[in-house]
Amino acid sequence: DHAKETGRRWAWHDAEVDTAISRKQNLLAELDTALEKGQIWTVYQPKWDIPLDRLDGAEALVRWTHPERGNISPDIFIPILEKADRIADLTLYVLDRALRDFSRFDAERPGLVCSVNISAQLLHDPDFINDAIARVGLASLDNSQVVFEVTETAALEDMEASIAALEKIRAAGIRISIDDYGTGQSTMSYLQKLPVDEIKIDQSFVRTLTTDRANALMVRSTVELAHGLGLKVVAEGIEDRECMNQLREYGCDVGQGWFVSKPVTADSFNSRWIQAEAGLTGKRAASG
Ligand code: C2E
Ligand code: MG
Ligand code: MG
Ligand code: MG
Repeated sequence: DHAKETGRRWAWHDAEVDTAISRKQNLLAELDTALEKGQIWTVYQPKWDIPLDRLDGAEALVRWTHPERGNISPDIFIPILEKADRIADLTLYVLDRALRDFSRFDAERPGLVCSVNISAQLLHDPDFINDAIARVGLASLDNSQVVFEVTETAALEDMEASIAALEKIRAAGIRISIDDYGTGQSTMSYLQKLPVDEIKIDQSFVRTLTTDRANALMVRSTVELAHGLGLKVVAEGIEDRECMNQLREYGCDVGQGWFVSKPVTADSFNSRWIQAEAGLTGKRAASG
């Protein structure tokens, strides 16, 4: 009886594991087609320059609209592509797309900053690093307008190799941001060692800033630490005005989150952010 029950449970478990595995394999097999058919695309989440009170730029975030499964979250498919060593293809696709879109935006609104997420493991792929640097160089943007966001846990693994790759990227004039800062084992000593330009405080600290005293302290002291080290600070996950006001008080440089805007398509970013801002400046200029 008991054996039967256990057997049944195992059979059920196997079936579930099988489904998960075949789904992963399907996704991997479908990657090239998805890229060709435009089922993989990018949205842009605006970043706000807090002291200047104006648009700073945007972060490219990848989207996969699957013909049968609908929208799949990057939190699901990015780790699968990373494990299968297919993340370079996807990243170069997103980078190209973002560079092309930003070259268009930059013609209207010069100086916008374009951030792209780079999986940490790609720091150990010299072909990818060379290719990515070359593509940025070919784009009409200034290289300093491009930011590579790398998660802190990744940068911490194999420090030596990571540092070499980060230095190469920075030597080309591209900027480096430490994404999801605070979720790993951030220490002052590694921040000093890593050749970076910016830290991006994780949304888990920012979202609860106005209700959680410990998180408020963490954010405030991080701003101070980063500025002391000559780094720029970005806060992600700003969901309301109180949070934005608090960050302004702390001296945070750049803010991102639903309060500013959710991620939007390239077309809406252009019409709602670039064109709208051009309209505003035009009006300001016209009225003296
Ligand atoms: P991330 O780079 O830390 O991006 C921030 C995530 O938080 C995005 O989710 C964004 O939509 C969401 N978010 C932004 N503002 C708010 C807010 O105010 N409140 C809340 N609750 N959420 C907010 P998304 O687009 O689902 O991306 C999730 C993660 O997937 C990213 O985290 C990044 O690690 C990864 N990812 C996305 N696109 C790419 C890519 O092109 N390449 C790589 N390697 N990873 C990517
Ligand atoms: Mg990011
Ligand atoms: Mg260039
Ligand atoms: Mg993040």
